[in-house]
Amino acid sequence: MTSLPLISVDPDARGRRPAMPPRHLADLDLPGRQALVTELGEPAFRAKQVSNHYFGRLVRDPERMTDLPAAARKRLAGELLPTLLTPVRELACDDGATRKALWRLHDGSLVESVLMGYPDRVTVCISSQAGCGMACPFCATGQAGLTRNLSTAEIVDQAVYLAGVAASGAVAGSPPRLSHVVFMGMGEPLANYSRVVAAIRRLVAPAPEGLGLSQRHITVSTVGLVPAIRRLASEDLSVTLALSLHAPDDELRDELVPVNQRWKVSEVLDAAWDYAATTGRRVSIEYAMIKDVNDQPWRADLLGRLLAGKLAHVNLIPLNPTPGSRWDASPKPVEREFVRRLRDAGVSTTVRDTRGREIDGACGQLAAAGDTDGDSRAATA
Ligand code: SF4
Repeated sequence: MTSLPLISVDPDARGRRPAMPPRHLADLDLPGRQALVTELGEPAFRAKQVSNHYFGRLVRDPERMTDLPAAARKRLAGELLPTLLTPVRELACDDGATRKALWRLHDGSLVESVLMGYPDRVTVCISSQAGCGMACPFCATGQAGLTRNLSTAEIVDQAVYLAGVAASGAVAGSPPRLSHVVFMGMGEPLANYSRVVAAIRRLVAPAPEGLGLSQRHITVSTVGLVPAIRRLASEDLSVTLALSLHAPDDELRDELVPVNQRWKVSEVLDAAWDYAATTGRRVSIEYAMIKDVNDQPWRADLLGRLLAGKLAHVNLIPLNPTPGSRWDASPKPVEREFVRRLRDAGVSTTVRDTRGREIDGACGQLAAAGDTDGDSRAATA
C-alpha cells in the first residue's frame, strides 16, 4: 500500500522547527508594523511610510525613500525589509510575455514564481512552500518532498517583486499593473494555512497596508485538504478555490493524488460545493490530462456526472512531462473528445494555455534543474 503523504501543519510536517527567515514588514498587519516601529524608537507613522514604499511604489531601496530622515532610512529598511528572495535565475519566453524566476531563500532553499502577461491582465503564480509533501507522482516538486513552509512575507514578496518587474514594462503587450495572483507554484497552499491566509490578506489590503488586489483575482489551489477548505470558507474571503482533482474515481485518484487516501473524491467535492455556496465563487476543477491514465471517455462522462449542475468550471491542463517521467500529455484528439463530453454534460470547460513550456513551466521543474552553480538543495531535500 502506498504510504500517505505528509500532511504539513504548522510548524513543520516532520516535527522539526524549520529555519524561518527574518521578520519582514509583510509578515505583519499595519498595527503590527506600527508597534514594531515604535519599539525601534521611531514614530508610528514611519510604518505607513515604509509600507507605502514597499506596497504602493514597489520600492525597497532605502536611498529612494526620501521622505524618511536620511539617518533612519537604512536602519528602518534593514529592520522592516530584510532581503528574503535572492534571484538565482530569471528566464523569459513566449516573446517576453512569460517570465519565470528562481529564488534562493535565506536557508538555501530554492523556490520559483512565474509572471504571465496577457493583453488585459498580469498574473503571478507563486509558491507557498519550499518543496511539497503531497507526493503527486507526476509532479517534479512532489518528487523532492517538503523542505519547509514559506513565511507570509516570503510568499508576499514573490508577488511584490514581480509586480515591480511588470511595472517596469518588462512584460510584452500587457498592462503594467499586477492584477491576479494564483497559488499554483511549489507546495500545497492549504498545508501552510495560516501563512497563506495572512499572505492573501496582505495581497488584498489596500496600499499602504497591502498590494490592493481584488479578492476575486486571487486563486488558491489545493489537492483537497478537506478541513482546510472548510476553514477557508469561513474566512470571509471571496478568493477562487481551484481543486486539483485529476481523476473522478477514487481508485485512480488514490494513486495520482495520494492525499485522496485520506479524503475521498466525494468528500472533497462536498467541501468544494460548500465553499462555492458560502462564497458565491465558482470552483475551478483542475484536471491534468495524462495519456492513457485519466483521459478515457468514460472518465470524462463520470466527471461530467459529478459536476453537472454545480458551480464549477473545469480547467484541463495539458501535462508538461518532467524529464525522465513515465507520464505523458494526452494527444490533442483525446483532449478534444474529453472536452466535448464534459460540455455535452453541461459542464463549462476550457483547456489551459501552456505558458512557459520552454522554460520548464511545470511547477518545480526550474528548482529541480537547480541553479547555475549546481546547487539544487530544494530539489534533493
Ligand atoms: S502537484 Fe502540487 S500538491 Fe501535488 S506534489 Fe506537486 S506541488 Fe505538491
